[in-house]
Amino acid sequence: MKTLEEVLQDWEAVIGLEVHCELTKLETKMFCGCKLEFGAPPNTHTCPVCLGLPGALPVPNRAAIQSIVLAGLATNCDIEKHTMFYRKGYMYPDMAKNFQTTQGPKAFCMRGHLDLTVDGRGAKERLFWEDLAEGETSENMTRTADGYVAHVGITRIHMEEDAGKMVHIGGGEGRIAGATHSLVDYNRAGTPLIELVTEPDLRTPEEARLFMHKLRQIFLTLGISDCSMEEGSLRADGNISLRRRGSKEFGTKTELKNINSFKNLHDGLAYEICRQAEVLEEGGKIYQETRHWDPSKKHTIVMRVKETADDYRMFPDPDLAPYDLSDEFIERVRAKLPELPDQKAARFERDYGLSSYDARHLVEHRFTTEFFEEACAEAGDRAKELAKPLANLALNDISAYVNAGEGIDFSKTAFSPARGVALVSLLAEDVISSKQAKEVFAAVLEEDKDPDAIVEERGMKQVSDTGAIEAVIDEVLAANPDKVAAYKGGKTGLIGFFVGQCMKAMKGQGNPKLINELLAKKLDA
Ligand code: ADP
Ligand code: ZN
Ligand code: MG
Repeated sequence: MKTLEEVLQDWEAVIGLEVHCELTKLETKMFCGCKLEFGAPPNTHTCPVCLGLPGALPVPNRAAIQSIVLAGLATNCDIEKHTMFYRKGYMYPDMAKNFQTTQGPKAFCMRGHLDLTVDGRGAKERLFWEDLAEGETSENMTRTADGYVAHVGITRIHMEEDAGKMVHIGGGEGRIAGATHSLVDYNRAGTPLIELVTEPDLRTPEEARLFMHKLRQIFLTLGISDCSMEEGSLRADGNISLRRRGSKEFGTKTELKNINSFKNLHDGLAYEICRQAEVLEEGGKIYQETRHWDPSKKHTIVMRVKETADDYRMFPDPDLAPYDLSDEFIERVRAKLPELPDQKAARFERDYGLSSYDARHLVEHRFTTEFFEEACAEAGDRAKELAKPLANLALNDISAYVNAGEGIDFSKTAFSPARGVALVSLLAEDVISSKQAKEVFAAVLEEDKDPDAIVEERGMKQVSDTGAIEAVIDEVLAANPDKVAAYKGGKTGLIGFFVGQCMKAMKGQGNPKLINELLAKKLDA
């Protein structure tokens, strides 16, 4: 099979996502008063409504409607005031009613969009953006200084309910194949769920991953869900087809179901692009089917061929009155919108003079955002002056630390925002070098002490005394007359050697900026 890079030379990928998000922050289910709780003993949160008993009548959860309107406003959707709930018929034991209550052709939220900023390594998957001039737009992409912005349409966000959970006993890895019997837990049945559907506007697996990531940050900021991909409260289906470069027509798509991590979304789509290209290049045909990405085997397998919409026998639910949202309701929800990640990034640029790159990456994760904001608050008047080193600390050291230890809650470590300010102050005042700053960072986490105390204890203070540095430089130059001659003869790269020797003589405590300056002065004299 060809690599993704090779395939994308000849083929363009067309990707659309369907994202399901459980509204886990709500107290109760979508159409009944049963409690929402993950991991409760099986079938302890059920009632006649969510068990589909005859005669039980549904009552919509008002807080759930507020949540979906919030999600719609945050993703630039139009809010539809007049919508209805529909019944989508299907027979499976995980839904005792034999239908799922969902929305019809009109959803609460329609016609939204999100803009993705793609740069660095991620931009490499989309070809040809480098042919555009900065600011120039082609199709849904606008070139930036170091990448591009992709404008991604959102078709709709509709409200529906989750099904219960099946547990298959006796088969391999909990699968139904080979099972002797199956159990069903209805605790999850009726959980409020929103489904967001994008236009087929994504062009690379990386854009799909970034979209998902951005959406997750927005939903977390709105506080409507815990968005846990591991626990399944946020999951994505990836629809994908290929077309020859230059062609405008869409090819037949396949759908990857229930992807539960960002990596799987990227890797599953990347594999599927390569598989489809191989089939098409060999003269084969792509069938519209649902496939399953197996991350351990690194391939996709067919789950089922696609049913058509008619199979669901959708019709308006006679037990639920049509909706008529008022302007006041929508405005009350709008007033609850918190500052969204893009707005926060813009504020970081504006108020602290950060680059758009730094600002954007800071808001990508909650731990970097929170650390940076709290540290700036601690820094008070000096926030603007210390913002850049604080951003570096968050994006480099703190990110590396958190990524190395999965699931670490950085706000619970010994490295508080106040200690962050103390550390970057030592650096800004040239008390310690950036190399020493890394050592102090690690020591604070390990020993739970203030940066100043660590610098004191370890005698780390950087030597910025010009007299002392000059003395060392003189010694180093005297000891290496051949290298000094070579430098004067044009081998100016030797400056690094001299700096290294001076640093060594000063046991790493010399101020590198001063050493460089003074060395250059002496050598160029
Ligand atoms: P279906 O009727 O199969 O459910 P939809 O038109 O409802 O298909 O689209 C479902 C998802 O698939 C959407 O996210 C949409 O953007 C995406 N999609 C539609 N057509 C294609 C295609 N040819 N290639 C890739 N994705 C597509
Ligand atoms: Zn119930
Ligand atoms: Mg569809």
